[in-house]
Amino acid sequence: MGIFEEKKNEFYRKGAVDRVKWMEGLKKTILPSQLKRIQQNDKMVLQEIVLPKWANWELIYDWAQDQDTSKGLRCVFCYEQHENGATYMEKFICENCYLKIKNLH
Ligand SMILES: [Zn+2]
Repeated sequence: MGIFEEKKNEFYRKGAVDRVKWMEGLKKTILPSQLKRIQQNDKMVLQEIVLPKWANWELIYDWAQDQDTSKGLRCVFCYEQHENGATYMEKFICENCYLKIKNLH
C-alpha cells in the first residue's frame, strides 16, 4: 500500500472526513497537465495547485504514480479518460462533451 492509501485509511479511522474527501476528489481538482508534471516529479507545479497544510509533495506524488494517463486525458466535464478531445486553457474536454456543449449554443 502506498503513502496515499495509508494516509487516507488513517484519516478515515480518525474520522477526518474533510481530508478523506479532499483526497478522493483530487482527480477532479488536478488538471491532466498538472498530473503529468507531478508524475514527472516537477515540483514547480506546486505554484499552481493549492495543497492543504497537512498534505505534502510525497503524498500527491504517490497518488500521481497510481493514476493511469496512458488511456488519454481526463475530461473536465465527464471525468472520464479520453484519447480524443481538445485542450482549452489547460483544461481537457473530450470529443463527446465538446459536441454536447456545442449543440447547446
Ligand atoms: Zn467529457
